[in-house]
Amino acid sequence: MTISEDLTPFEAVNHFFDSAADVLELPDSTRRALRTPQREVRVEVSLQRDGGELETFVGYRVQHDNSRGPYKGGIRYHPSADLDEVRALASLMTWKTAVAELPYGGAKGGIGVDTGDFSTNELENLTRRYTRAISDVIGPTRDIPAPDVATDAQVMAWILDEFEELKGHAPAVVTGKPLALGGSSGREQATGTGCVICLDQLVNDLGRSPNDMTVAIQGFGNVGSWAARRAAATGYRVVAVSDVNGAIIDEDGLDIAALVDHVDRTGSVVDFDASSELDDDLLTLDVDVLMPAALGEVINHTNVDRIQADIIVEGANHPTTPAADAALNERGTHIIPDVLANAGGVTVSYFEWVQNIQHFRWSDDRVMSELESVLTNAYRTVNDAARKHDISPRVAAFVVGVRRVTEANQLRGRLHPDRGGHAG
Ligand code: NAD
Repeated sequence: MTISEDLTPFEAVNHFFDSAADVLELPDSTRRALRTPQREVRVEVSLQRDGGELETFVGYRVQHDNSRGPYKGGIRYHPSADLDEVRALASLMTWKTAVAELPYGGAKGGIGVDTGDFSTNELENLTRRYTRAISDVIGPTRDIPAPDVATDAQVMAWILDEFEELKGHAPAVVTGKPLALGGSSGREQATGTGCVICLDQLVNDLGRSPNDMTVAIQGFGNVGSWAARRAAATGYRVVAVSDVNGAIIDEDGLDIAALVDHVDRTGSVVDFDASSELDDDLLTLDVDVLMPAALGEVINHTNVDRIQADIIVEGANHPTTPAADAALNERGTHIIPDVLANAGGVTVSYFEWVQNIQHFRWSDDRVMSELESVLTNAYRTVNDAARKHDISPRVAAFVVGVRRVTEANQLRGRLHPDRGGHAG
């Protein structure tokens, strides 16, 4: 079957959903109900720039499914954030929280904006505006945002403050907060660390050793930089990394601690002393492990034939188009799919939320050992499903997630178990 390269992000996620629904033999009515987001909020976010001019952006919050718990998902600020992309990411969150067996549903938010040249003041005002606009649909037992592309702990602090101004004390309304406001130890590094925890499982299954393996990482923000640190500490040779400004390479392995210092000082990986600029596309380097950790759909029909890595760890959400995924599977590339590989972030977000509700702080060691345990279980469950049904790990992850969400909806009476349709 040929898969179109023109699928929108939401259609692409639903392509994987449908592959899982085929394995689970779900009827059409169930598929329609599970694909359709439960609520979509679209808001105007107008902002007075420091120079005095008024600019208007559009923000979204899509709540996809809450059968297993409150909606949960990040907020991104990026020019490509539109309703379709946010829907796709909300749906991925539903399957991801189910794969990791966290008591959450799936949601996502975004504003279609490039905040690259925003002052701190402008970023804060934009965030407060957006928070006010969605304040009636979020809350600690309703929908809990977190950081994503171009949003961080400081942005979460402003969301928390604005929400509490309106609704009263509610630290559990966002996760990924600064430690001083009830954040969890380990949250910042959780997603990148989780990617490497999953990678270690696969490397072990393949009978290989990290010490003999090279890694290239696209994106050196939250996910990419923490994945690089953990990978280097585990013994992998991280030979190339990139960010929006360019890519660098050192065949002997980059000194990640020094690179992190360089990025803290200069804001970019480029011009890092011990490396050379990379002319070729980082994604097509001859490395053992490729980790896309920036944006979506970067592995697609234009480059899939040139991808050389045997292992792809999807730190980013939806980095591989369905057609490229099919080509890579055919070639035997091992893919750790986004809904598993980057689930470490939402897992430690869950730990943060639990600590907020319990008014009790966990130690670093507890956070890290519980993270290892959640991800190792998820990895094993997905692997078992892949073997049982003879399907790719991506479809297997969707099978695990979709099965759990279907069951929760059936038990609630939202879906009829026998007829598969919506109750009532
Ligand atoms: P971030 O904003 O901290 O970092 C993004 C990085 O990507 C930056 O280094 C940026 O320069 C780089 N980048 C942007 N465009 C690029 C390009 N064209 N080529 C190379 N690099 C480019 O974002 P993040 O939080 O690290 O998120 C990265 C990805 O991981 C996203 O897909 C996000 O949805 C996903 N993710 C993040 C988390 C989390 O906890 N932050 C959790 C799960 C998934």
